[in-house]
Formats: sequence, C-alpha cells, structure tokens
Amino acid sequence: MICYWVTAILLFVSEGVSWLTPYNAGGVGLWETRHEVWIYVDLSILVLLGATELWLKRERKVYLKRAVLLCGILLSYELYFLLDPVVHGSEIILMMPLLISLVYFERNLLRAFSLLNILIYMLITIVPAAIRLTAFNTADFLLVMTLLIIGTFLGQGVITRSIEMRKAVENLAKSEQKLIVEKAISDKLLKMDALTGLYNHKTFHEYMENLIHHSEANGVSVHLAILDIDNFKTINDTFGHWVGDIVLKEVARNITELIRPNDFAARYGGEEFALIFADTTSEQAEACCEAIRAAVERMAIPQLEERNITISSGLFHYLPGDGKEKLFRNADSALYQAKRSGKNRVVVYQEQVQLLVPQI
Ligand code: GH3
Ligand code: MG
Ligand code: MG
Repeated sequence: MICYWVTAILLFVSEGVSWLTPYNAGGVGLWETRHEVWIYVDLSILVLLGATELWLKRERKVYLKRAVLLCGILLSYELYFLLDPVVHGSEIILMMPLLISLVYFERNLLRAFSLLNILIYMLITIVPAAIRLTAFNTADFLLVMTLLIIGTFLGQGVITRSIEMRKAVENLAKSEQKLIVEKAISDKLLKMDALTGLYNHKTFHEYMENLIHHSEANGVSVHLAILDIDNFKTINDTFGHWVGDIVLKEVARNITELIRPNDFAARYGGEEFALIFADTTSEQAEACCEAIRAAVERMAIPQLEERNITISSGLFHYLPGDGKEKLFRNADSALYQAKRSGKNRVVVYQEQVQLLVPQI
C-alpha cells in the first residue's frame, strides 16, 4: 500500500509541477487543457486508496492479497488513462500489474494480468481507430504488444527461478532439521542401554560424578542402591539366553515404573542395576528398593514356567565427604551381605556390614 501512496503522491507532485510550468513557451499548459479530467482522476485515486485502506483494516489479513491486487490494477489503469493522451510512452504503466503479480510469485496471476493488459490495450487502440476517432499507429501498437509479451515471459522466468530457490531453501531447512533429529537420536543411543532402555554404565558414572560434586557443595543427601538378579546364570542355562534377556527387560520395566521422576536408574553391568536417589530420606530410598524387590518377585514371565525371579539390593547413604570410592564399596558391601544372608532382600549399609565382608 505504501508503494501505491508514493505513486499517487508522485503523480500529484508532477501535476503540480506541470500546473506551475507551461508545457512550452507560448503554448498551452497541460493543466489548462485537462484540468477537469485530472481533478476527477485524482479524486478517484484518493477514494480508491482510502477504500482499500478501510477494507484492509476491517478484514485484517484474510483479504489482504485481493485488496492489494485490485487496488493496484485499478490504480495502474487510472494512471494509464490519465497519462496516455499527454505523456509519450505511458504504456509502460501497463507493466505495473505484471510487477504486482511478481510480488506474490504467482504464475496464474501473471498470465491473467498479461492477458487483461493485452485485451485492454487492443481495445483502447483498435476500437477508437475502427470508428475513426483516432489514427491507428501500427509501429506503436506492435512495439507495446512486444513489450507486454516480453514482460510476461521475463516475469514467468523470475517466478520460476524464485520457486526453484524457495524449494532449495526448504530442502536445506528440512535436511538441517533431519540432522538435528538424527543427532538427538544418536545422543540418546549413546546414553542408553539398548536392551533395557535404562541409562548405560557410562552415563551412570557421569551423573554420579556430578551429583557427588553437588552434594559436596550443597549437602544434598544421596543414596546409591545396587540391584543384582539372583541366580541369573541358572536362568540363562535352563531357559536360554533369550529368556534371560526377557527377564532383564522385565526387571528394568518394573524399576522404571516404581522409581520417582527424580530418581536415576541405570543398567550397571550384565544383570546388575544401579539406582541413585537424590534428596530423599533413607526410609524413602529403602521403601523404593523394597517395592522393586516385591514387584520382581511377583513377576510372571510365561517362558519361565512359573519360576520366580528374585533380586538382592545393597543400599548406601552417602554423606558429604565420604568420597566416590566409599560410595561404591559400601553399596557393594551391602549387596554382598544381601546375597550372603539368603538373597531376595534389601540390605541397608551399616558400619557392621563391612565387618562381614572378607578382606581380600
Ligand atoms: P548371584 O545370585 O550370585 O548373583 O548369581 P548369578 O548367577 O546371578 O551371577 P553370575 O555373576 O554368576 O552370573 C551372571 C550371569 O549374567 C552371567 C552372564 O552370562 C549373564 N549375563 C550378563 N549379561 C547378560 C545379558 O545381557 N543377557 C543375558 N541373557 N545374560 C547376561
Ligand atoms: Mg552380578
Ligand atoms: Mg546375579
């Protein structure tokens, strides 16, 4: 719309200039010859632009394109009718609708405007000549027609090229998006254990390391539990490795269902799992381990022919200053105690537990 207003203002300014300066010395100024027509056309241009602005304000964006197009076409034809009799080469204004359609990169619009232009131009040159109102200038007619046709072809070229470029940019954005997704997936794969879907050993250590730092700095309470499936080797030997894998997945599923969102679970080794509880009481951590133990005991896996799976767990409450070494050693000691005292139980580390571990 701003372009249209600028066009209208330029027109008014040039009219003003032509009013002030006579066309040629001793001749008649343009203003004197056509001032009535000019005033009507100027007024109609103002009405046209004002009405379009109102239309845009009322309809918001829904009809934006239609309003801008219609206003542009009417404005260019008005300018053409106004300037044609006095300005040599005013036919160039007929290019305006073609340029407007380029703004929207629409081939059909360009073709329609070009056809309309050719028809209108033929109408205003051939009809008055046919009824002997004006003389028919064949050279001018052919020149303008050629210009309109060349303009249409050039416009088509611009639209085709811009559509190609848009597609290229879209493809580039798509492949960039694909790369981001692929990276996210590979990042996740690097962090997870493929069989159980829990975090893997490496991620567990990274997380533990950070948590210990955090605990040292802020005194946050940390509990580590190590869970180990009892007699797993017998399961593998009796039912096959593939059934062992099903058991691992089922145990992992139970763990995932029973931990809280802030707890961290990882597959620590073959049939061992590690749980980290941050900012919980010892009772809460023990209750969670116990819930997992009970749930695993209740698991009914068809391939196991009614045989139950049990797990043993060792839980250690880490206090700032204990150090990472002590964390793992003490959790392991508790697990060892759970195995030694009959399996299928949760043992919380206490100083006397360590006394039961044989020194190697
Ligand atoms: P305990 O009650 O003392 O823990 O005895 P256990 O038989 O569970 O322990 P052991 O360490 O003797 O055996 C662990 C077995 O776990 C041996 C190994 O073949 C099996 N294992 C390790 N990783 C996998 C796995 O990814 N899939 C399967 N199916 N078995 C695995
Ligand atoms: Mg083990
Ligand atoms: Mg085991």
